[in-house]
Amino acid sequence: MSVDSPGIIVERAFPAAARDALRDSQLRRNIGKATNTIRAKRKAVVAEMPDWQDLRDAGYAIKRDTLRHLDRHLLALEASVTAAGGTVHWARDGEEANRMVGDILAGHQAKEVLKIKSLTTDEIGLNGALSARGIEPIETDLAEVIVQKGHDRSSHILVPAIHRNRAEIREIFKRELPDTEHLTDEPRDLADAARRYLRQKFLTVPYAISGANFAVAETGSVAIFESEGNGRMCLTLPRVLISIMGIEKVIPRWADMSAFLQLLPRSSTAERMNPYNSVWSGTRAGEGPEEFHLVLLDNGRSDVLADEPARDTLNCIRCSACLNICPVYERTGGRAYGSTYPGPIGAILTPQMNAPPSPADSLPFASSLCGACYEVCPVKIDIPRILVHLRGKVVAARGAKTALDGEALVMAAMARVFENPRLYALAHKAAAIGQVPFIRDGAIKSLPGPLAGWTAMRDLTPIAKQSFREWWKARDR
Ligand code: SF4
Repeated sequence: MSVDSPGIIVERAFPAAARDALRDSQLRRNIGKATNTIRAKRKAVVAEMPDWQDLRDAGYAIKRDTLRHLDRHLLALEASVTAAGGTVHWARDGEEANRMVGDILAGHQAKEVLKIKSLTTDEIGLNGALSARGIEPIETDLAEVIVQKGHDRSSHILVPAIHRNRAEIREIFKRELPDTEHLTDEPRDLADAARRYLRQKFLTVPYAISGANFAVAETGSVAIFESEGNGRMCLTLPRVLISIMGIEKVIPRWADMSAFLQLLPRSSTAERMNPYNSVWSGTRAGEGPEEFHLVLLDNGRSDVLADEPARDTLNCIRCSACLNICPVYERTGGRAYGSTYPGPIGAILTPQMNAPPSPADSLPFASSLCGACYEVCPVKIDIPRILVHLRGKVVAARGAKTALDGEALVMAAMARVFENPRLYALAHKAAAIGQVPFIRDGAIKSLPGPLAGWTAMRDLTPIAKQSFREWWKARDR
């Protein structure tokens, strides 16, 4: 996938991409170290909260109720933003959103635009679309600077450059940033180099694009929570501010923010509170941007909303706790998921935004269903249940298309055997005899033909000579 293409379109199936990622031992070390650290910190700050489970319930309830009446809340948001002096744009898909943003900037003859970290703009490939119109997007979040200057793709929702170590970052900065000939790989030096570059941009570029963590329908306020303060520079200094958000980011009331202000920082950066909490409502003379645009993006979200068993996917507040706990993510890293949204949330969100058949169909299978993601999710998304639901859809679609598919035939035969006790007893006897040539040292270490996959990574325990029913009968005698 090209760096600037829409980050929701998956071009390679997960197994192939994961195999490549697993060969990169440096990547595994970087990700393992980072996720272990964040996991331990998160655990400690969550343990400080005796009412954590109640907060999770509250977060879930707010999201669930909001989604039930999403249309109403979005119209209320539009009215509030307009009353506060902003302009609301409705975008059906990424192409439409990119065109709207490009038109606004072109109307100002903009040549450069600042950006505060926004997954949604990655999702729609906004950077590539703006570059094609001669407008250079300038990422300002430190990790995003590393990704952009490395001509790379993000691999974590919150720490996009998690796959890079200090030495790699120094090389990127030396190649791409001014005045870096004597740069060391000390974190302070690296941060200083980025700061010098960004300060100059903050002071000279009068246009900015942001994402949004939440938007409050009753007040028209948009909120971003971040750790570096670069976002605040983007939100306050430019003359024109364009914020892009998925339609699921709306919350009805200001009071609803209280639950998320506690859930989000602890689950994401393992902080009690984000250092910078910026909230803006429309425009005000002499303060902040003179022109404010809010782009409300659908891009497949209405379809997710319509699929009731998968609807909770839209609860996600992009904290990344599920990534940091996931044993699959820890080994493969984010890029193997092939989209802006890696890890367990990507495994359920991305396939719903890619019409089947697509390489994204492999993502619901990129999980051992261990359930750790559900345990840590601050808004109680039952990711394993949604994974199973999506697997069912993939299998049903495949079954309908390939009636003679080998795996489908084997599964159909197995179903017949398992539902018939006589057939099951016969199959058991046949398998107990048939396995004999393959048993070595009490285990089946390799099977032939299409069954070889089962033993490629593991030994199988041989089938017992006597079935449970036979043993039970013999015991009664
Ligand atoms: S699914 Fe839950 S844990 Fe994962 S990023 Fe979203 S809110 Fe966080």
